Amino acid sequence: MAATLRPEWRAFIDGQYRPALSGKTLATINPATGQVIAEVAACGAEDVDAAVASARKAFESGVWSRRAPTERKQVLLAFAQALMTHREELALLESLDVGKPITNAYNGDIVSAATCIQWYAEAIDKLYGEMAPAPAGMTTMVVREPIGVVAAVVPWNYPLSMAAWKLGPALAAGNSVILKPAEQSPLTAIRIAQLAVDAGLPPGVLNVLPGYGETAGQALGLHMDVDGVGFTGSTEVGKLFMQYSGRSNIKRVGLECGGKSPHIVLADCPDLDAAARAVAMGIFANSGQVCNAGSRLIVEAPVRDALLDKVLQIAAEMRPGDPLDPATRLGPVVSQSQYDRVLSYIDAGRADGAQVLAGGGPALPDSGGFYIEPTVFGKVSNGMRIAQEEIFGPVLAAITVESVEQALQVANDTIYGLAAAVWTRDIGKAHRAAQGLKAGVVWINCFDRGSMSAPFGGFKQSGFGRDKSMHAFDKYMDWKAIWVAT
Ligand code: NAD
Repeated sequence: MAATLRPEWRAFIDGQYRPALSGKTLATINPATGQVIAEVAACGAEDVDAAVASARKAFESGVWSRRAPTERKQVLLAFAQALMTHREELALLESLDVGKPITNAYNGDIVSAATCIQWYAEAIDKLYGEMAPAPAGMTTMVVREPIGVVAAVVPWNYPLSMAAWKLGPALAAGNSVILKPAEQSPLTAIRIAQLAVDAGLPPGVLNVLPGYGETAGQALGLHMDVDGVGFTGSTEVGKLFMQYSGRSNIKRVGLECGGKSPHIVLADCPDLDAAARAVAMGIFANSGQVCNAGSRLIVEAPVRDALLDKVLQIAAEMRPGDPLDPATRLGPVVSQSQYDRVLSYIDAGRADGAQVLAGGGPALPDSGGFYIEPTVFGKVSNGMRIAQEEIFGPVLAAITVESVEQALQVANDTIYGLAAAVWTRDIGKAHRAAQGLKAGVVWINCFDRGSMSAPFGGFKQSGFGRDKSMHAFDKYMDWKAIWVAT
């Protein structure tokens, strides 16, 4: 299948595919088999310079940045449509590249990316400026302007959707963008560059640079002519981008980083079956490689056993399988290093005294792929590494508490603050929890709900700035006050 696909492997700069100037490549691996899918361009600082020059030229020419919002809207709607027209191809690329079950890629990732681009296309001609109160003889307009050249640096867990969360608002606002996909997952990003140009995006407005974080990513972060970075990835690398900014041109940085989200189930949970499904899917979906994964189950003692029984049943049914089989719900993790990392956390959980209730090791060893059993730990205390550090794998840590107050205290005892959930039938407790939880997203009696209309992003070391919704424009636009003496 991969051979007949012949994925495009080159970088996309100034409206054209081209190899890295150094000629270097990097292998992108199919996590389901461990086999190389393609060698893609490994861009370096010199490619970053070329892409930034192209993006700057396009921006200053006004060919996109000063185009009427209604016209930008039409181009981006065509781009969104193209993603849907190429849905099968993109889903296949995504599934091969990151081991995502094809059903999820087809029904989830590609659709959500297209929806995001469409949403910002439709929003951009409804975005108003302000008139400030002004004395007689003076008119004061407060207008929004695109910031210029934006670097979008994204991770591998939802490659196309995470790219769309940056491209949608940044392009709609009129910026030129340089997209740097993660080294593990470059294929869809490379492919959509051509689709964008075919839809009418002028050359230079979208460049795509596959490459390593330490080379291409760092060069973007340190570049003096990049005006802003929209970053999604680990907290560790998010901190580096703040340093890059300080060491260069204090470029604006928006960070969507890691999480260790608490999933609280109180004794008065209104529907234990629904909660169990949400808990299981909240950690096993996408093999646990989800920034807002509910990786810490915080359960009140009276319902602990009943809830865990149900979660374990679901875990037992979630057998890892070939991502290209439409029936598969759990694929491999993305890479050998991620596989080693997740297994080392499972070892750490055991060594710290947590009890393995399900899974706890590799799966499908003959496949050559990076499969891990859905794993549930009981007898976890919140100080353990498996409760404090982001594992990014199908590993649930269950912590028992005795009260709602203790649940909130444990929930907030983390460096992260991306998302949290609470199950209770008491509306008072629900509101107290929603107010008390230090997280950018709180779900009551549900999990992982979202839409383009609501912002997504974190508190604390999960980052700042918001993706999705009108608030995302704040990352990619500046305010200008214009005083006109009349
Ligand atoms: P990562 O931080 O390793 O990489 C993210 C991106 O940064 C990649 O493009 C990578 O090439 C680049 N990068 C890596 N090292 C770099 C460096 N030294 N300088 C510049 N760029 C560098 O993250 P990952 O492993 O790809 O993705 C997993 C992480 O992403 C998890 O922590 C997860 O929580 C987070 N994430 C967050 C959200 C959110 O919305 N908050 C969404 C998805 C993923």
